[in-house]
Amino acid sequence: MIEIIVASGNKHKITEIKHILNELDVNVKSVYEITNEYDEPLENGETFEDNAYIKAAAIRNLFPNCYVLADDSGLMVEALNGDPGVHSARYAGEQHNDADNNALLIKNMSNVAEDKRSAKFVSVLCLIEPDGKVNNFRGECEGKIIYEKRGDNGFGYDPYFLPNGEVKTFAEMLEEDKNMISHRKKALEKLMAYLKENI
Ligand code: IMP
Repeated sequence: MIEIIVASGNKHKITEIKHILNELDVNVKSVYEITNEYDEPLENGETFEDNAYIKAAAIRNLFPNCYVLADDSGLMVEALNGDPGVHSARYAGEQHNDADNNALLIKNMSNVAEDKRSAKFVSVLCLIEPDGKVNNFRGECEGKIIYEKRGDNGFGYDPYFLPNGEVKTFAEMLEEDKNMISHRKKALEKLMAYLKENI
């Protein structure tokens, strides 16, 4: 059995990763479960791939002989030239929260017409193997930004994101239904296929 150390303390993410990788012979652990020496690095990359790598490399420094995994994700809005992008978590500034980020998003979208509101969530997983090989797995979920928030589930930009082909926003869906079509799920499926072939 191989052990994969994940750069996240988010229980939902760890559970989702464990759930999807369930059928493989892998043991998924949060870095926070096994050390208190992990300091979250500055995520100052220009792409999701850069930031996922920065986090994975920071764990590899502590555990050079293990498989390490990190993810980075965010929302890209076509009419805003891909913003908030890698700045999704802090779109309204370092000290701001989901409500502030959503308020800024909706303000910036106020003059954007119905048919120009395309957006996508992106998730990139970076796996570094014990021999140093770096692999990226990217998942995307396309949809559009609606005008008024709908739903109380989920987090982040979920209440304003209507996935293509769906009648419910991410925040109106049950977590398990969102997890069937999400950007994270698609990236995890690619990781899963890679691990099946290669370990
Ligand atoms: P992180 O990759 O967990 O740091 O997420 C970055 C930011 O992207 C979050 O703080 C959210 O604002 C946004 N984000 C990423 N995935 C989702 C999602 O599934 N729903 C809503 N917002 C998300």
